Amino acid sequence: MNSKEKIAIPAQIMPTRDPKERAKCFDEVPLGYTEEMAVAEASRCLNCNTLPCVRGCPININIPKFLNLTMERNFVEAVGVIRESNYLPSICGRVCPQESQCQKECTIGRITSHPISIGNIERFLADNFSDELPGVVIPPKTGRKIAVAGSGPGGLTCASDLVKSGHSVTIFEALHEPGGVLAYGIPEFRLPKTILKKEIDSLKKMGVEFKMNTIIGKTITVEEILRDYDALFIGTGAGVPTFPGIKGEDLPGAYSANEYLTRVNLMRAWEKDARTPVTVGKTTIVVGGGNVAMDAARTALRLGSKRVIVAYRRLESDMPAKIEEVSHAKEEGIEFKFLISPVEILEDENGRIGGTVFRRMRIEKDPQGGRNKIFETDETFLITNDVIIFATGTSPNPTLTSNCLGLELDKYGGVVVNPETMQTSIPKIFAGGDSISSSSTVIMAMSNGKTAAKGIDKFLKSQE
Ligand code: SF4
Ligand code: SF4
Repeated sequence: MNSKEKIAIPAQIMPTRDPKERAKCFDEVPLGYTEEMAVAEASRCLNCNTLPCVRGCPININIPKFLNLTMERNFVEAVGVIRESNYLPSICGRVCPQESQCQKECTIGRITSHPISIGNIERFLADNFSDELPGVVIPPKTGRKIAVAGSGPGGLTCASDLVKSGHSVTIFEALHEPGGVLAYGIPEFRLPKTILKKEIDSLKKMGVEFKMNTIIGKTITVEEILRDYDALFIGTGAGVPTFPGIKGEDLPGAYSANEYLTRVNLMRAWEKDARTPVTVGKTTIVVGGGNVAMDAARTALRLGSKRVIVAYRRLESDMPAKIEEVSHAKEEGIEFKFLISPVEILEDENGRIGGTVFRRMRIEKDPQGGRNKIFETDETFLITNDVIIFATGTSPNPTLTSNCLGLELDKYGGVVVNPETMQTSIPKIFAGGDSISSSSTVIMAMSNGKTAAKGIDKFLKSQE
């Protein structure tokens, strides 16, 4: 097929569950590609010599190679190519912000405005052909032991790469379920728990050990870990929510998105007799514009909230959320209000939330082409609501880091690392993901985990 013919192939649109049906249940929204769709989509690839898509992927998967194999229906080999760099492909295919990474750089996207749906093909391959993959060859044991704090994407990736180098790895997880933010933060309708379990089971088969309900810095001291293990990777994430500091934010019915999603995802808060239920509001306001805000809003809708409003202080075009998640939320009936910021939550006669006062914001374009500047106006107005969820950011979890003498932290509480190796100020300790301030997405955390695994391996060899 020549380039002209490839460009003429129509882009394959991912089928989704009907918005009315899905707004009432937690079933996954995108339904996945069929084999024919995956082959047709992969056939659009132009095999660019300069590999722009590979450069856009933080873990540099050989994208044209797995697309070519998909086009030839060599699906098992195709998933093998992905797994050379990525042990969580079913997850990345779902939650990676592809439009700002691999797909952003896709040449055919520049020509037709429909880049290859790399994430959708990755998901198709990993969901359907991972089981057939021949076992990963693990080299003889080196005798070196590494502890990983946190079983989120950074910790899982670091652990799998270290096991592949022959080291023994134990992941310590504070909660009763592995997966970190993938388990407690991302709702079932975006990342089903069965998919997460399958990916984690494949790491267990490779030899990664998990110790649940164990907090390094509380249940075990950092000193004990450093005594018993040759290195430690900190991937404890950003579990501390940021509140705006306004009156009424401590009223019943006001949540951080972190707490709200954890209760729903891990404690099945939608069940009638849940031990830690969440309040289902008539009107729920979610403050924020990222993927966490979309997850919280769509969860509130599914729990039975009659009206759900996303309130964002900037413009829609400034929202960091995935475009696909925003459009899914809109299709489901979630309202969006831009250029507003909460100033006070009002208390009703029962001591609960009676409404929220917002301030209108004003935006000015930056003539230099930088991020638009926003300013407060004098105009305020009231929205009547009974639940409010703040998805306005989190900061690194301090439980381990504050109990680690000599570990250098930045002003936000993030661990300071050498970006080449992810090594911290303590040579035996490495860190990545949301534990360092510069990382934000699942795939960036995975990229940090990979860099740290290389850094740890090099460090251990230097000690021999
Ligand atoms: Fe794209 Fe993410 Fe897959 Fe990389 S891991 S190819 S960024 S979807
Ligand atoms: Fe294929 Fe797009 Fe990558 Fe080019 S940039 S090789 S068209 S996926």
